[in-house]
Amino acid sequence: MNILLNEIFHSIQGEGPAAGGPAIFVRLSGCNLQCMWCDTKYAWAPEGARELDEIVRAIRKYPCKHLVITGGEPLLQQTAIAALLKALPEYTTEIETNGSIACRITGLIEQLNCSPKLKNSGNKPYELKILPLNKKAIYKFVVGGREDIKEIKNFIKKYKIPQGRVWLMPEGVTKKAIEKKSKWLVEVCKKEGYNFTTRLQVLLYGNKRGV
Ligand code: SF4
Repeated sequence: MNILLNEIFHSIQGEGPAAGGPAIFVRLSGCNLQCMWCDTKYAWAPEGARELDEIVRAIRKYPCKHLVITGGEPLLQQTAIAALLKALPEYTTEIETNGSIACRITGLIEQLNCSPKLKNSGNKPYELKILPLNKKAIYKFVVGGREDIKEIKNFIKKYKIPQGRVWLMPEGVTKKAIEKKSKWLVEVCKKEGYNFTTRLQVLLYGNKRGV
C-alpha cells in the first residue's frame, strides 16, 4: 500500500496539549482546504507516493515512540494511516486535522487535534465533522486578531465544545508576531476558561521546514 508523503522528521510537538513532547512528524501530502496563512503550502499537492514498508523503516530509525500525523489533511488517507499504525503497534499517535472530514480511525490513536478554520483562513465555512462526542478530540483555533474571538465563541457554543478542550493559538510565523499576540490572547483564555498554546516550533526555529 502507498501513502502520499511529504516529509518525516524528529522534533518536539510545538502546539496544543502535548506541546514540548518529543515526536516523529509524518507529514502527508494533499489538502482539501487552502488557508491563506497556511505555513505548509508545500504539502498541498497530493504527491510523493511511498510504500508503507519504506515509511515504517524510516520511522523506526528515530529514538522516539510518539507520532504526530499531520499534513496537508491527513484524514484524506485514513485507510493508509490505519495500515501504518497497525504496523507500528508500540507507538502512540496524535493526528492533526482541519475537522472537515469524519475520523474512522479514532480507535487507533491517542489524540485527535482538530483545528477548525475560521473566516481568517479565507476558506468557505464548513460543517465540523469531528464532534466533541469523540473524547479524543481537542480543538485548536488559530487566532489572527481580536476580531476572531466572537466567531470562536459562537463556534464553540454551536458545537457544544467544553471550554477545557479548547486551545487558542496565535497565528504567526515569526517570534515577534507570536509574542505580540500572546499577551492579550492569554488574557482571553483566562477570562473564558480556554487553554493557551504557543507555537514552539516558530519560537525555536523561526518556522523552518523539517525541524
Ligand atoms: S487545513 Fe492545514 S494544511 Fe490545509 S491549507 Fe489549512 S493550514 Fe494548510
